[in-house]
Amino acid sequence: MTLLDVKDLHAGYGRSEVLHGIDLTVEAGEIVAMLGSNGAGKTTTLRALSGMIGRRGAVSLDGKQLPSDDARAAVAARLAHVPEGRGTFPGFTVHENLMLGAYARNDRAEIAQDVAYWEDFFPILGKRAKQRAGTLSGGEQQMLAIARAMMLRPRLLLLDEPSQGLAPMIVQDLFHRLQEINGSLGTGMLIVEQNAHLSLAIAARAYVLEAGRISVSQPAAELRANDDIRRAYLGG
Ligand code: ATP
Repeated sequence: MTLLDVKDLHAGYGRSEVLHGIDLTVEAGEIVAMLGSNGAGKTTTLRALSGMIGRRGAVSLDGKQLPSDDARAAVAARLAHVPEGRGTFPGFTVHENLMLGAYARNDRAEIAQDVAYWEDFFPILGKRAKQRAGTLSGGEQQMLAIARAMMLRPRLLLLDEPSQGLAPMIVQDLFHRLQEINGSLGTGMLIVEQNAHLSLAIAARAYVLEAGRISVSQPAAELRANDDIRRAYLGG
């Protein structure tokens, strides 16, 4: 069943259009990667989907249309976004950041259970629960950003460059954890990621975005074998 269905998506900033009519889907429980060079419009795509900026075109989640430019409606539909730069609150503790991820929920007992679940899943977050988020390392902050987004119990998780600024070993571990979350909870994921090796390793399918248009849409395994893609994104 299709979880996210995007048709003819147009979006941009002011009068400058960045996305010129994108079609894409994420099936229930699927991991999908989006590749593309700098400035292609990947971040803009995620912002348009999560209602941070306006858009034209149709976006539905679980068969329900999402209104444009309405981040609250996206959250209510259980679409979570881990933005570029992570978006955690540095002055709040790890625990408070996790609680903030549940702001749209009111099932208090289950929220407490979920905090315990994520502090256990990422043990370092449990250890540092009372520490301010701003004191965490980059990798720990990315874990916190993911755990905070998962506090929404999302149907779909949008991830913008989760590997940015992190050491290769830490990134590898992080992508394993994303795969585990997808396997155990069935959370659909759309991952924008410069590190194509990693994103194609965990994704079932991938899109390539070029100058605001989808130029390639293929199973990840086929993309890895595609010579043009190897040259452009996989280092030869
Ligand atoms: P990158 O990997 O560099 O982040 P990207 O594919 O995510 O690339 P976007 O960040 O979506 O690309 O940017 C697409 C275009 O939109 C670029 O030309 C960029 O300059 C422009 N742009 C991005 N954010 C804004 C903004 N807040 N205001 C105006 N223009 C913007």
